[in-house]
Amino acid sequence: MGKVNFKNIIENLDEAVLAVDYDNKIVYANKFFCALFNTNCEMLSGKNIYEFLPENSDTLQLKEYTYKITKFDDEYYSYFYLSVVDSQMEKIYSDFISTVSHELRTPLTSIRGFADTMLLSYDKLDKERIQKFLSIIKEQANRLIKLVENLLSISKIQVQQSNFVYKSVNAKSQIEQVIDILKAQYPTHAFELHCEKDVPNILVDENKFQQIMINLMDNAAKYSYERGSVKISISNSMTKENFVSIKVEDHGVGIEPENLSRIFEKFIRIENHLTRKTQGSGLGLYIVKNLIEKMGGKICVESSTVLPNSGTIFEVLLPAASYTNQSQKALEDK
Ligand code: ADP
Repeated sequence: MGKVNFKNIIENLDEAVLAVDYDNKIVYANKFFCALFNTNCEMLSGKNIYEFLPENSDTLQLKEYTYKITKFDDEYYSYFYLSVVDSQMEKIYSDFISTVSHELRTPLTSIRGFADTMLLSYDKLDKERIQKFLSIIKEQANRLIKLVENLLSISKIQVQQSNFVYKSVNAKSQIEQVIDILKAQYPTHAFELHCEKDVPNILVDENKFQQIMINLMDNAAKYSYERGSVKISISNSMTKENFVSIKVEDHGVGIEPENLSRIFEKFIRIENHLTRKTQGSGLGLYIVKNLIEKMGGKICVESSTVLPNSGTIFEVLLPAASYTNQSQKALEDK
């Protein structure tokens, strides 16, 4: 058997894990634990574990979930493992199934309805109406394709089977194509694209990059009001050398600070007055984050709900294609 990298496995688990020393000081926390407490490993390091976990209980109530805490010790450290209590997992999955069924049924009903109308009254319909019905059918079919792609992506992410074909991609022209798709879906929204001069191509899988941009830009339009504007800016990253920054900015409902870390969890939809009205499966950002990280990039978010229309900015950093061949090789080996 090959050498197993347990640290990597623990770091990327969908459950929280941390280790403390004999003084109860945190020496390690995985990504999931940091996300739960909206912090990072450096901030946690050296803090007392019981600032975060209850001292005399083996469960922790956090946001709307109950976590079971399992503790085990070795010679040097104590390890804590937090898992969502099973009955709640069942609820999350059953909510997910009902959301997905609704997501499938709505566009299918609409496609069947418009196709029926055209078949039954084709002779009575003028050209303009036929064109309108066909464009609704196409739009609804696009929605189904996006949902099916997202569903396939989560199952692939879960079994780690996704194939990435890396090549040098021009972000601007890919985003222009996404704007064309979304303009049909959001005719009253404005999509603006700004691209700094001399931005290099990015080294990504082209289809996965499109999937990322569709999810982010669709959310930006979906969680904005009628006639909202979505701005996409491409530039050289200010924070990470040899990375390209792509920002998607909207002036919509925004996200409360306490929900920022949860939006990347799978099946999670955050309540706002637009989520109730809009379709969604709670998978988009989970997939987006996974794809970006697998391609060696990073995503962060800034948002505010203080002022109406203050909105949200997602920033994606992806490796520049001019970045050395070594980085390409490292990504291909992943
Ligand atoms: P959904 O299918 O619900 O849109 P996502 O995973 O794409 O699922 O997003 C998760 C949640 O994050 C959404 O339900 C929404 O509450 C919030 N969200 C995502 N993007 C935005 C945005 N641009 N503005 C406000 N809220 C957003």
